[in-house]
Amino acid sequence: MVRRIERKPVEKLDRLVDSVLGPHVPPIASVKPGEVVEVETWDALTRVTNPVTGPIEIEGAERGDTLVVEIMDIEMPDKGVTAIVSGFGALEGWLNLFEPRRKECEIRDGMIHYVTEDGRTLEIEADPFIGTIGVSPYFEAITTLSPGTHGGNMDCPDIRPGNTLMLPVFRPGALFALGDVHAVQGDGEVCGVAVEIPAVVTLRLGLEKDRTIGWPRVESDDEIMTVGSARPLEDAARQAFREMVDWMASDYGWEREDAYMFLSLAARARIAQIVDPLYTVVVKLDRRYLED
Ligand code: CA
Repeated sequence: MVRRIERKPVEKLDRLVDSVLGPHVPPIASVKPGEVVEVETWDALTRVTNPVTGPIEIEGAERGDTLVVEIMDIEMPDKGVTAIVSGFGALEGWLNLFEPRRKECEIRDGMIHYVTEDGRTLEIEADPFIGTIGVSPYFEAITTLSPGTHGGNMDCPDIRPGNTLMLPVFRPGALFALGDVHAVQGDGEVCGVAVEIPAVVTLRLGLEKDRTIGWPRVESDDEIMTVGSARPLEDAARQAFREMVDWMASDYGWEREDAYMFLSLAARARIAQIVDPLYTVVVKLDRRYLED
């Protein structure tokens, strides 16, 4: 049996504990590198705002290591919620028609059922991923609403089952936490909310001792990806591209100027989100260019 890490009852959630990543939050569980766990998560709209489950301590993790999170499965409920939240969203102030809204979407047979205000049902394929996933920063505590070098609220759809996320470790034990699963999300997460769901996430938590990375990285079967977060948006792209140059040089033997020029020809990028305190861009490179 896979060990399950339970979420707290809603009434016990505390913003200063469950909506922050930071060294002051005591771990709720400790795992050995290589262990598989099932983690229960709340959705981002739950009472205290974007609660995460954790922190989970990874035995032996130290500053300068890399935490390797293999995302194995996401179990979805039969419905999720999307919304327009007052004062939030990328077009806040750009259009004046927005009233706060809340809409339940059924999730059935792998499809999201979105019913428009005039009663049409549109189906969109579910593609669940983890919106907020990260480790404790070195000395400050950071709200779970923000992304950064520690991971956090990246809202990056590539952090999905079948892919592996790498995060820099800053604190002993890494102090890893996650929440904010989305059943599906468009690029940019433009209104600030996706199809928000509570979930059960199955992960393998591994550790690389002699490897230090600057920003979160993702691997899929076909691509390597770097995740940069900043404002303005172009600086998020710069962070992600710079990390990609570093990765190509350190792991794949590229001369840095070559990597820079080649990314100018072959990179793909997506806007993960333009709604959180820092914006997030994902840069991707096809693995076919990385073979000998
Ligand atoms: Ca989010």
